[in-house]
Formats: sequence, C-alpha cells, structure tokens
Amino acid sequence: MFVSEKAPAKINLTLDALFKRPDGYHELEMVMTTVDLFDRIDLYQTNKSITLESSSGLVPQDERNLAFRAAALLKEKTGCDKGVHIYIDKRIPVAAGLAGGSSDAAATLRGCNRLWGLGLSDAELAEIGAEIGSDVPFCIYSNTALAQGRGEVLTALPAPPTCWVVLAKPNHGVSTADVFGKLRVHEITDHPQTSRMIEAVKKRDYDGIIRHLGNVLEPVTMDMHEDVRQLKERMLRFGADGVLMSGSGPTVFALVKQESRAVRMVNSLRGFCQQVFAVRMLGVRRESVLDDVRTK
Ligand code: ATP
Repeated sequence: MFVSEKAPAKINLTLDALFKRPDGYHELEMVMTTVDLFDRIDLYQTNKSITLESSSGLVPQDERNLAFRAAALLKEKTGCDKGVHIYIDKRIPVAAGLAGGSSDAAATLRGCNRLWGLGLSDAELAEIGAEIGSDVPFCIYSNTALAQGRGEVLTALPAPPTCWVVLAKPNHGVSTADVFGKLRVHEITDHPQTSRMIEAVKKRDYDGIIRHLGNVLEPVTMDMHEDVRQLKERMLRFGADGVLMSGSGPTVFALVKQESRAVRMVNSLRGFCQQVFAVRMLGVRRESVLDDVRTK
C-alpha cells in the first residue's frame, strides 16, 4: 500500500508577538497562508518499523526528522501496529521560515491516517501535531488562518486573492530559537495591524493586504543578517508590490500581480540567492498527489 501527500510551504502575511509568557514562549498573532511550493511525501506501508529517506542531505534521515516523529507519535497515540517507509522529496528550502519541517510532519500525519485507515479527523491530527511543533496544526489544514497562542490556536480565513509570490532565500539558514531569543517585546514600536490584515483578506483586497504586511521578527533577523535587508530592498527596487520576511526568516517574499514581473524578478535575483522561486499564492489546501490509497 502506498499514499503520497503534498506538503506545501507557508508564508506569514503578518507576525506579531504580544508578550512573553511564563512558559517562555511568546504569545503570537499571525495571519498565515499557503503557497504552491511543496515537498512530496511518499508513504509505503511496512510491517512494524518506521524508516525514512529524503532527497535532501540537509535534513536528518532518522528519528530526528519531524516526519519520522509524526509517524511515531501517531502510532503511539492510536496503538496502531503497522509501519511505514517515508520518502521526502524535498523542494522547500530548509531552516528558511517556510515551515518545511512542520509541513512534512503534517503531511505524514495526514498520509499515515489514510495509509493505516485510522479515520482521525483533521482536528484530531492537529491536536497530535501540536505536540511536534507550533506550526504543525496550521500545516494539517494548509489553508489561510489567523494563528494565535504559540501558533496552534487557529481561526480559518478565506483564501487571499491569487497573485504571484517570489520567494528568495539567502544562502544561509536561521535558527527560529535564536531569533525569538533576541526579540525584546517591550521594545517593539511597529506592531502589524492584524485586524486590518484580516479585513483585507476577507474582502479579497489585494492593495489592503500589501499595505498591512508586517513581521516583528524582520528587524531582529535583519540585524543579525544584513543580506536579508539588502534582499528586501532589491525586491522593492525590482518592482514588487509588497515585500516581507516570512516567519523568523531568512526567506523574503515579494507579492506581484503580473507573471512577467515575477519572472523578471526571479532572473534578477539569481546572482544574489541560490534559491529563488516564483509560485502562485494558494490559500487553500490542494488535494494529495494521489488521492486514493493504492496498492503498489
Ligand atoms: P519554521 O518556519 O516552522 O520555524 P523553518 O522553515 O524555519 O521552520 P525547517 O525547514 O522546518 O525550518 O527546519 C528547521 C530544522 O528542523 C532544521 O534544522 C532541520 O534540520 C530540522 N528538520 C527536521 N525534520 C525536517 C524536515 N522534514 N524538513 C526540514 N527540516 C527538518
């Protein structure tokens, strides 16, 4: 038996930190959506054990991989005695602020749920996913949502108007923990207007979305990595309608309406960054690569 799932990347249209909680996490408020850049997760049923392989040498190929942890946790929670071989065809840049690992974990939860015939709902998978990482519940749905708490408290939103998203990742990663460690919430002067962004998304108001893009982690990462600031300036110069760093970075994305402008921007950024993509904004979850459980 074999199933395959798409694991799309997410971007933050807003990211705000409200205060630091007693448990050490920041209380967050984020509007997140999904773009058409994805890893492919192939799942082959095996007897008992979990094994994992990836096309990318940049991610762990053992129990440290978030997809492996997802399958192991699902087995533990449900008492399922089946196994799985996980193959990750990695396209989403690693340690990039695009929730690649979380999306792989979420796709593994969705796929194993089908492969093993567990019949869990998305809400049940999201609850299990929250134990793996704060972005995993969002990635179970992979739609558009307001995420609060650590990111795991979700309110669904309609998909934003479709447009082109140019994603560019500088040639280094960023540790999310390091960036949050340097954030001083009481020193933030420029909080995003989250409610305005929600309004713009609901009205499918492209210009409103552009106006209210905001991420309080952007200056923190830019102070650590000057090339992120330069990348943003470059994208604005090359004609982006709006530009923002996603998550804790270092990926910066530009929104544009016209395909020709997106292509021009990709060509102009190639010398500056190795990983540059022009993809469509999705805002909703695409069905899995192969919809049905198939016999190999
Ligand atoms: P987020 O936006 O949720 O903070 P990110 O995009 O910044 O995530 P990831 O690509 O998810 O970062 O990777 C973060 C770390 O997780 C990396 O150091 C990587 O080694 C580890 N990791 C474990 N499993 C995976 C996976 N399946 N894909 C990518 N990274 C993984």
